[in-house]
Amino acid sequence: MKSPLLYFDHAATTPTDPAVLEAMLPYFGGRFGNASSAHGAGREAIKAVDEAREAVAKAIGAEIHEIYFTSGGTESDNWAIEGIAEAYPDKKHLISSKIEHPAVLRSLERLEKRGYEITYLTPDASGRVDPLHAVKAMREDTLLVSLMLANNETGVIQPVREIFLEAKSRGILTHTDAVQAVGAIPVDVKVLGADLLSLSAHKFYGPKGVGALFVRKGIKIRGFLLGGEQERGLRGGTYNTPAIVGLGAAISLAASTIEERGKKLALLKEYFLTKLSERLPFVKRNGGEPALPATVNLLFYGVKNTDLLAALDREGIAASAGSACASGSVEPSHVLTAMGLSPSEVRSSLRFSFGKDNTTEEVDRAVDCLVEKVNRLRGDKDLFLPIEQGSIES
Ligand code: PLP
Repeated sequence: MKSPLLYFDHAATTPTDPAVLEAMLPYFGGRFGNASSAHGAGREAIKAVDEAREAVAKAIGAEIHEIYFTSGGTESDNWAIEGIAEAYPDKKHLISSKIEHPAVLRSLERLEKRGYEITYLTPDASGRVDPLHAVKAMREDTLLVSLMLANNETGVIQPVREIFLEAKSRGILTHTDAVQAVGAIPVDVKVLGADLLSLSAHKFYGPKGVGALFVRKGIKIRGFLLGGEQERGLRGGTYNTPAIVGLGAAISLAASTIEERGKKLALLKEYFLTKLSERLPFVKRNGGEPALPATVNLLFYGVKNTDLLAALDREGIAASAGSACASGSVEPSHVLTAMGLSPSEVRSSLRFSFGKDNTTEEVDRAVDCLVEKVNRLRGDKDLFLPIEQGSIES
C-alpha cells in the first residue's frame, strides 16, 4: 500500500486551512451577492470584503485604503512595477535583483523593451544581496527599487529595510515582493519602509488566485484592470468575495500564530538538517541565514535533482527542483545560478519547505527515503570533493 503523501513543498503552495474554507463557504452559497450591488445581498458581500481588507491591513501595519485586492502575487508584482512606471514617466531607471520571482523579472523585461534601464543586483554566495551594491546603484533618475523580502527557492531573507531606508532618503520608491514572507515571518510595511508590497493567500493556508497589493497613501499608480469602479477604479472586475474572505481569514490566522509557528518550523528544519547530515555525506546547503523558518535548499553532490525528485515522488514525497514551468518540466534555477553555483550543482539541488502540519516522524521517514535514494542514485560514483563540502553547512 502506498504511504500517505509527505508534503514538503509549502513554498509552492499550502493547503487551505479548514477554518479558512469554513469562512469562505457561505459566500459560495446563500451570501452570493455582488459586492458592488446596491441592495441587501450586495451590502452583505461588501461588508465581508471590507472586513477582509481590514484584516490584511492590520496584518502588515497598513491603512485599510492602502490595500487593493488582486488575483495573487503575479498580478500584484506586475501591477506594482508597471503601474508605477506608468504613473511616473519621467524616471527611467529601476533597481532589482537577479533572484526575483519571474513575476517581477518579466515585468522588468517588458519595461526594458520600452527603453527603461534596470540594474539587477547579484547576490553573494549565501543568497543575499549586498545593501552597499544597492546604494551604489541608486541614481538621480532611479524611479523604483523592487526587492523581494524572502527568496522562494532558498528562503534567504533580503536586507530590504536597510536598502529601502536609503532609497527613501533619496526620493526613490520601494516595492517588495513579500509573497513568501507574509504569513511566515512578521511583516510591517512601516518598519520595512515599503511603498508597495505584494502578497498572495495560497502561500499561507488561504485559497489560490487571490492576493493583495499594498500601495502607500499618496503614491500614484496606474490602474491595472480596466472596467468597473472596483478598488477605487484601479482594478475592475466583480469582487471574488469567497476568495477575498479566505484571504482575510488566512492572514488573521497566520498573524495570530506567527511566532509560535515560526519557532516550531525552525526546529523542524534544524531537525531535518541534523538528521540528514548524520547520515548522508556530500550534501551542502544553498543559502544561509537569516532565512524563512521553513525553507531550505540542498545540493546533493553526484545526483541529478530531477532523478531524485522523481524517486521521492514515487514514494509519495513532494519536494521541488527550481521552478516548474507551464509544461511541468523543470527550468534550471536562475536563483542558484546567480549565487554562483555551477550548472551541475544547480542540477543537483532540491528545495524542501515545511508546513505547520509536518511532524518529526514525517521528517524521519523523509530522511530514511532520501538516504536510500541518494545512495542508490550515486551508486559507486566516486565523489572527489573538498572535505569541507562534505557536510551540511549554512
Ligand atoms: N513571488 C514569489 C516570491 C512567489 O514565490 C510566487 C509564487 O510562487 C509569486 C510571486 C507568484 O504568486 P502567485 O502564485 O500568487 O501568482
